[in-house]
Amino acid sequence: MLPETLWGLAAAAGLLGLCVGSFLNVVIHRLPKMMEQEWQAQCSELRGELPSTAAQPLSLARPRSRCPACGHQISAIENIPLISYLFVLKGKCAGCQAPISPRYPIIEAVTGLLSAYTAWHFGPTLACAGALLLLWALLALSAIDLDTQLLPDSITLPLLWIGLAFNLAGTYTDLGSAVVGAMAGYLALWTVFWLFKLATGKEGMGYGDFKLLAALGAWLGWQMLPAIILLSSVVGAAVGITLIIATRHGRNIPIPFGPYLAAAGAIALFWGERITQSYLGLLG
Ligand SMILES: [Zn+2]
Repeated sequence: MLPETLWGLAAAAGLLGLCVGSFLNVVIHRLPKMMEQEWQAQCSELRGELPSTAAQPLSLARPRSRCPACGHQISAIENIPLISYLFVLKGKCAGCQAPISPRYPIIEAVTGLLSAYTAWHFGPTLACAGALLLLWALLALSAIDLDTQLLPDSITLPLLWIGLAFNLAGTYTDLGSAVVGAMAGYLALWTVFWLFKLATGKEGMGYGDFKLLAALGAWLGWQMLPAIILLSSVVGAAVGITLIIATRHGRNIPIPFGPYLAAAGAIALFWGERITQSYLGLLG
């Protein structure tokens, strides 16, 4: 493929990524609130209360985005990824001048850059389309886990099925490796969880982490699982120890594991083949 065409593809994917990043911000902000509303509805149903009809249930599409400080509705010109934050709003709400968190444009920029790199790495292939979907889901999951210590089933479970579906055609690995990857991914962390719980009486991670590793196994095959677990544990331990030292962050405050799994999964997606080959080479 001509390098100019590949750069054009990367630029297009980058622009698409900016818009998707804007949508991911909505998902990251609203999905945990939607889950909470659902749990509350289920609790009141169990208590035999009538469902409250006062509040309209939140969804990803409704209501339109508003400033959390003053309720100012975000207009179209204020909703252009990155551009609006930098040049139109300059980091402040147009209604009340309250500062807007820089994480919104950061997530948009990261999604855009990652999407551009994915297109450049894979070229115009089915593997590129799948990789974009996987990376967008991993970004949303990481941010939600950092915020709430949750990895919603409504993302992890479809991610697993979609990974298996892509591998029906052998996009990333053969179907057998994908199915074994899904099972082994879940079982591996489930086993660690129970050993840790029996040994210390504490819960080191959540069931969402098992489902996320199962999904990564379904996408990349069981052969990638050791590398993913190793990478995420090493980076997780390094960041965790740094946090404990730097901020005297209590050792009993849970540090979410999801973002490390997601980052390790992304690394394995791009360079997993090379990583596994080199350590299999080391083993002989
Ligand atoms: Zn405002």
